[in-house]
Amino acid sequence: MNTKPQVLVVGAGPTGLSASLFLTDLGVPVRIVEQHSGLSDHSKAFGVNPRSLTLLESTGVTERLLRQGRPAHGMDLWRHGRVIFEGDLTKIDHKYPFMLVHPQADSERALADALAERGVDVEFNTKLETVEVAGDDQVECSLTLPSGETESYVANIVLGSDGPHSTVREQLGIDFPGDHFDEPWMVVDIELETDLAIDRVHLEWNDAGAVFMICIADNLWRIAGNVLPITDHLLGNSTAGATVWESEFHMRHCVTSEFAKGPVALAGDAAHIHSPLGGRGMNLGIEDAYVFANLVAQGRLRDYHRLRSPAVHSVVRRVEQMTQIARGKSQLSHLARQFAPLTTAAMKLGEGNLRNWVLGLDHPVNIGSPTK
Ligand SMILES: Cc1cc2nc3c(=O)[nH]c(=O)nc-3n(C[C@H](O)[C@H](O)[C@H](O)COP(=O)(O)OP(=O)(O)OC[C@H]3O[C@@H](n4cnc5c(N)ncnc54)[C@H](O)[C@@H]3O)c2cc1C
Repeated sequence: MNTKPQVLVVGAGPTGLSASLFLTDLGVPVRIVEQHSGLSDHSKAFGVNPRSLTLLESTGVTERLLRQGRPAHGMDLWRHGRVIFEGDLTKIDHKYPFMLVHPQADSERALADALAERGVDVEFNTKLETVEVAGDDQVECSLTLPSGETESYVANIVLGSDGPHSTVREQLGIDFPGDHFDEPWMVVDIELETDLAIDRVHLEWNDAGAVFMICIADNLWRIAGNVLPITDHLLGNSTAGATVWESEFHMRHCVTSEFAKGPVALAGDAAHIHSPLGGRGMNLGIEDAYVFANLVAQGRLRDYHRLRSPAVHSVVRRVEQMTQIARGKSQLSHLARQFAPLTTAAMKLGEGNLRNWVLGLDHPVNIGSPTK
């Protein structure tokens, strides 16, 4: 007889797909539903960090990502048209000493394929409408099915990996406190003729804000920043070609007040959102998924909030601090620009910490010992 709990995973983004994969490999039965008709073909995230590559290794997904992606080996900080700091990601004692550049849509496809090979298919066009905790291991849910009919479903455990506007979080009345930056940011995927190194991330602090540039495919670059229009601020000798995609967004930094309420847990963007600087969002979601799945398999979901809350808070705090400096609106960010040689010297001194932060290795991931 199977004594493992039945888990309902809500949302087939990178977090929900990873959680389903980890749970399946741990022998926990899982059902995964997604409101849309298929996986997203839009790539927000491009950086898969060494932490995620390590966590996904046993599933075989890492091997697929490494086959398709391209490593970024370093980061250049620019000021007034020249590089003032060269960060080297390869100087780390790790099996994957780089940030893997790989489109989120392709990462999701690799995760879903691995899941399907294990006999678990995402149920598309299936939307979670309501969720209510009915007991220690009983969660009553209602789902709208592809036919339009409503299904009542009782799961032992529910994971809300349903993104920033999480229905699960809202249904449980869990707060999502935080703050936001007023100014709009822009992200553009654009064809570019350029002399910039394609295996490095380029970041400029100019007087008004920041510009990031990263090569995401042959001659295709992602450019993001808060100095608009962003394509007027290209680095190196660069000539813009066709724009493939562009979007404007506002940055928020929020962390859920509760990572779990009884048998219902939150993970990924449903639990935390922050600036894309550092490429942590998707990677942090994969980390949540790993911890969640292992705790569920050990019957220790009660430890999930205790383990994730401090780790996530510390990452989001640091991402917010780094973004504050990059966006160029605070006193500290003006000083950092004004005294650029001192800033560069400080960055050289702290390069090890900076590298760990960029690579997502700034805190350990373990599932700790059980709460007494
Ligand atoms: C410009 C930009 C660049 C970024 N770059 C990086 C990067 O380089 N590296 C990085 O790690 N992160 C990056 N991020 C962040 C990353 O994209 C997100 O953190 C990631 O998508 C979160 O994944 P998720 O699975 O938690 O949520 P989502 O990707 O939002 O997936 C949630 C899923 O749940 C589904 N859903 C929602 N409600 C329901 C419901 N009621 N029923 C059923 N399904 C539902 C949605 O349709 C969706 O498919 C970036 C973000 C932006 C905006």
